[in-house]
Amino acid sequence: MTTDRVTGRGIFDPELLDRCISCGFCLPACPTYAQTLDEGSSPRGRINLMRALETGELDDDDSRLREEASFCLGCRACEPVCPAGVQYGQLLETWRDHQWSGRRRPPLAQLLMLVASRTPLLRAIGVVRRHARTPSVPAAPTTLMLGCFERGLYPGVSRSARALLPDIAVPADQGCCGALHAHNGESERGVELARRLGEQLPGVIVTTAGGCAAHLTTVLGRDRVHELSEHLVKTGASPVGRLSVGGRRARVALQDSCHLRNGMGVFAEPRALISAVADLVAVPGEASCCGAAGTYSLLRPRDSRRILDPKLDAIEAADLDYVVAVNPGCLRQLETGLRRRSSKVRAVHLADLLAAAAGGTPLPRGRRWTLPRIRVPARRAGAARITGGPTA
Ligand code: SF4
Ligand code: SF4
Repeated sequence: MTTDRVTGRGIFDPELLDRCISCGFCLPACPTYAQTLDEGSSPRGRINLMRALETGELDDDDSRLREEASFCLGCRACEPVCPAGVQYGQLLETWRDHQWSGRRRPPLAQLLMLVASRTPLLRAIGVVRRHARTPSVPAAPTTLMLGCFERGLYPGVSRSARALLPDIAVPADQGCCGALHAHNGESERGVELARRLGEQLPGVIVTTAGGCAAHLTTVLGRDRVHELSEHLVKTGASPVGRLSVGGRRARVALQDSCHLRNGMGVFAEPRALISAVADLVAVPGEASCCGAAGTYSLLRPRDSRRILDPKLDAIEAADLDYVVAVNPGCLRQLETGLRRRSSKVRAVHLADLLAAAAGGTPLPRGRRWTLPRIRVPARRAGAARITGGPTA
């Protein structure tokens, strides 16, 4: 079954826009459709809006167009379930580029993109926060990407990754990958930053951020970019160890990174690594978006909380010790949500969990930079304790 070719203003690649056969298989996978049960807030409905924009049936200022381009999480959960191979993520980037071109972006998004574009500033933040560092090695076979906000918010993650991969090079002079720009209506700038990062980091680039991995891959190619769990499994560098809480194996769940799972097909690897050192617990909804979605949680906090809350309910009901994230945005989202609830479950990055299990470093006790209104519960006597060491 095919649809007539959509022709018009030349905003979208017609081949990409035509691919949708309106079957609706994607609707049950879409978190915003699940929230609203509104066709217009589903992938199929949004593609129809894009078609209306392309043909001129709707003009750029149409309020529904603007709202839906922003309400979409960009999680790409609609892609793996689509029988026609619709590349929704690519369509969304084109849509946002067009929709937001020449318009004022939210000041917070502008500020974040500005900071992420300034390599000297990122470098200074990293130095203050003490991310992992090694001398630059021009011919290094593998280099660690530090990310922009990860080096500010979670500098310990790069130190843990370095502990897991002692031979990896970590040049300090590296910028942002541009994912933030690509997802916020500046895809050309996003590509430019990714290319520049590819020149700054020789060899295979290992990243601890699923969203960055997916964006870098589209620009630099699949062979140049490895997400950490993928790299550890591929190279056989999987750490050994055991994560114990109160004398038993820790109960740990994984929150998938949307772009890592839906864009790169990486989801078995982090689960295999967690299973090797702890009891992996399946939690309903673990594969769906947590509501962080890049800048979404900052720009649409209410919608983001609506997506997150049922997930936190499921996490708390599963009697977990830890929930693991493979992307700094997801980590911040889970950490903030769990703290708000004074939950006993702790959110940690996979790199920190594995390094702790291997006995290399203790799990970090949380960010030093806390957001206003977030209460950090006091550590209770007898609370979960991590012990490292080889598996018996
Ligand atoms: S599953 Fe794919 S082809 Fe079917 S409606 Fe959704 S995007 Fe279109
Ligand atoms: S990217 Fe996510 S939120 Fe947007 S249409 Fe696809 S499934 Fe729905």
